[in-house]
Amino acid sequence: MKDIGVDVTQPRGECKDKNCPFHGDLKVRGQIIEGRVASDKMRRTVVVEKDYLHYLRKYERYERRRSKLSAHNPECIAAKVGDNVKIMECRPISKTKSFVVIERVKPRLSEERSSSEGVD
Ligand SMILES: [Zn+2]
Repeated sequence: MKDIGVDVTQPRGECKDKNCPFHGDLKVRGQIIEGRVASDKMRRTVVVEKDYLHYLRKYERYERRRSKLSAHNPECIAAKVGDNVKIMECRPISKTKSFVVIERVKPRLSEERSSSEGVD
């Protein structure tokens, strides 16, 4: 397995995906973003949702914002809806995909509780 140059836990599974940073020849660089998988309906693609705070100077408060990014989901990682994932920038794989899932992150206890309470 290849070293992708970032300190993440290596996926246990194997895959033949050429767009996998561990088993294929996809190079990763640039930003690393953590988010939650909002959709896994596409083949080898997930939609990752990220919450962030935007500061409003007039009110001296933050507003919550949310954005979505599509990312490549290699078979050896196989992230599912609700998983917390780390995605990293790579070359554009398709029109909207220029990120790839590099790790599944265990949810922190506080986040686990809030996600089980909120039923969408
Ligand atoms: Zn792989």
